[in-house]
Amino acid sequence: MKILVLNCGSSSLKYKLFELGDNNVLAQGQADRIGMTDAVFQHDAQGHETFLNKTPLANHHEAVHALLAHLVDGQQGILTEMSEIGGVGHRVVHGGEHFRTSVIVDPAIRETLEATKKLAPLHNPPNLMGIDVCTSLMPGVPQVAVFDTAFHQTMPPYAYTYAIPYHYYIDDHVRRYGFHGISHRYVACRTAEILGKNVEALRIITCHLGAGSSLCAVAEGKSLDTSMGFTPLSGLVMGTRSGDIDPALVSFLVEKEQSSLTQVMDMLNRESGVFGISGISPDFRDLEKESSLGNERARLALDAYAYSVAKGIGSLIPAAGGLDVLVFTAGVGENSPNMRRRICAFLSWLGISLDEEKNLNGILEEDISLPGTKVKILVVPTDEEKMIARETRTVLQKQ
Ligand code: ADP
Repeated sequence: MKILVLNCGSSSLKYKLFELGDNNVLAQGQADRIGMTDAVFQHDAQGHETFLNKTPLANHHEAVHALLAHLVDGQQGILTEMSEIGGVGHRVVHGGEHFRTSVIVDPAIRETLEATKKLAPLHNPPNLMGIDVCTSLMPGVPQVAVFDTAFHQTMPPYAYTYAIPYHYYIDDHVRRYGFHGISHRYVACRTAEILGKNVEALRIITCHLGAGSSLCAVAEGKSLDTSMGFTPLSGLVMGTRSGDIDPALVSFLVEKEQSSLTQVMDMLNRESGVFGISGISPDFRDLEKESSLGNERARLALDAYAYSVAKGIGSLIPAAGGLDVLVFTAGVGENSPNMRRRICAFLSWLGISLDEEKNLNGILEEDISLPGTKVKILVVPTDEEKMIARETRTVLQKQ
């Protein structure tokens, strides 16, 4: 079965076409700077040269149209006709409390999805626009919504309830939701596969460490707690996001800067994290380089990040009921032996110790813990698109 996976951002669109029988990626590409005069569209299909086009794309409708045209193009195309696509899986960041699993989008579901826009005003509107555009351009092809929040809907109420007046939960659905669920679920399942165990039999903490970072406690195959909350701003220190801070700091900063709440929230989202501490860069590669050259603020930013991850791991152990496996994934988790070492250095008392050589060699999908220690440590590359494709297939096969 061929499944198209689509991830629509406000001015971008990424896609992958899978042949799911053998997990083969037939084509992939992206459109950037949609709506601007310097849009770029790139398309790579198996057996063909990369196609690059810099013609402006006025909107997402034009971008999806371009991608579909390339998939069925007489010369460069990988499909004879559109109907070969069995379904489209759309990444939708927020499913609120309503969506605990992936769903086929019909008019009633589309209406319910509308209500999720206010929970994720930056992400959900472009995600839903992708669904609308595909619905109009691909009549008869099922559109499936796969949510970043859905995996975390198994958290118990004591983990997702904020200690503020309860009517905000009842009236406005204010609670911890958690994000990166597609990635946490993928790496937890993959970890079980690698270890030859049933995922239900493992207590896992998955560390999705990228520009945005979050942790998840997985036991009995379910997410039982996670570090992000009502929005993806909370939890760990991140590239440019502050993570958890004292909430009273917000009013302090509004007063101190004589600025609006929106400006302060923007600062916490875009100018904070390791970028804010270091004043250098949100990119961990730059910080590691500067730190090795003796830059103290770069070093402090890396230490603060590592400590926040280690503290987060410690705080999730009650949720998981102990710990069998610690898993690192995403840009930093997969590629930075230094960061893995810094994090694990805080955790040896838990039976978490790295085999230095295996860690440095960046061995993937194998246990890299020191022999004889209690907790296995794995680096598992995430694959959110593959997870979305599989989910889409599962939902379609159930109908
Ligand atoms: P996101 O999907 O949230 O944008 P990614 O998972 O792609 O983030 O991770 C991006 C981050 O990974 C970059 O900010 C970069 O700092 C970090 N990264 C990538 N490669 C390395 C590396 N070799 N060493 C350290 N950090 C890395």
